[in-house]
Amino acid sequence: MKVAVDRDLCTGHGRCYSLAPRVFTDDDDGYGQVTGDGTLPDDLAEDAHSGANSCPEQAISVTVGPVEPRRR
Ligand code: SF4
Repeated sequence: MKVAVDRDLCTGHGRCYSLAPRVFTDDDDGYGQVTGDGTLPDDLAEDAHSGANSCPEQAISVTVGPVEPRRR
């Protein structure tokens, strides 16, 4: 599963990381970000969708399923 926060849309409401702290956290300015590099196990999908659905700015994208490895 891949989860991403669009920093250009995020306004720092904090709903995502309050609701789903296993998936989201805050940066030094209070904006939402995904834990780690954004590649997370699918068993966190419910948390990811909960955070995404709570975001009033629709700044969160969730792609469930295998993640393609990055090509160099
Ligand atoms: S809920 Fe949305 S706007 Fe608020 S911190 Fe999370 S990503 Fe940003």
